[in-house]
Amino acid sequence: MSPQDLQRYLEFYQDLGVKDLYKRKAVKTAGTGQDACPTGESLLQILEDIGDCQRCPLHAGRNKLVFGVGNGHSPLVFVGEGPGADEDAQGIPFVGRAGQLLTQMIENTARKEGIPLTRDDIYICNVVKCRPPGNRTPEPAEMEICGQFLYRQLGAIRPKAICALGGTAARALTGHKEGVTKMRGKWFQWRETPVMVTYHPSYLLREYNQTAKREAWEDLKKVLHFVYD
Ligand code: URA
Repeated sequence: MSPQDLQRYLEFYQDLGVKDLYKRKAVKTAGTGQDACPTGESLLQILEDIGDCQRCPLHAGRNKLVFGVGNGHSPLVFVGEGPGADEDAQGIPFVGRAGQLLTQMIENTARKEGIPLTRDDIYICNVVKCRPPGNRTPEPAEMEICGQFLYRQLGAIRPKAICALGGTAARALTGHKEGVTKMRGKWFQWRETPVMVTYHPSYLLREYNQTAKREAWEDLKKVLHFVYD
């Protein structure tokens, strides 16, 4: 690696807020597809492997790659679709309006249900790590390429349950093709891990969605009690 490459590499991690780097043993890298998930690797190793990713066309329009945030040992992981404008600017998932709603939903529901939990206690990430242009739905090829990193993140965290936010996350994790309205509130599986599907918070921000809001709260209660009771 040239000194210029090394500098770019270190600046990239600095932007992501990484303070310590260490030399690791060689890690087997995964191929694409659902079965790819080397065990025993850490989130930092996966982040290192993503590097300054240019594996799919989404990299061309990104400001910051959005890897994931929160507690890497959390028993519960929330998975969204892909970064929006705010997330792309900050490099952190779910920090825009939808993210604020997600945070409120998690924290308020937990408080009402007597579960001591804040957003920082859980882990949040997306199916794709770079913002799709104009916030369009990620293409299947983009989901397949980037999905390998999602699966490896989940393999590293090994949560007790996953909450899929919206249809894209539900499809990426379960392989089911039905709409989210049919899937929500039900348990599916990613490998052996239970997956609860619910609405994406952006959908809940639309005014006419009072029923969907109530349903999402019910879904969240279900997943919180499953994980924390
Ligand atoms: N929508 C998502 O799916 N993910 C984010 O991080 C933000 C908005």
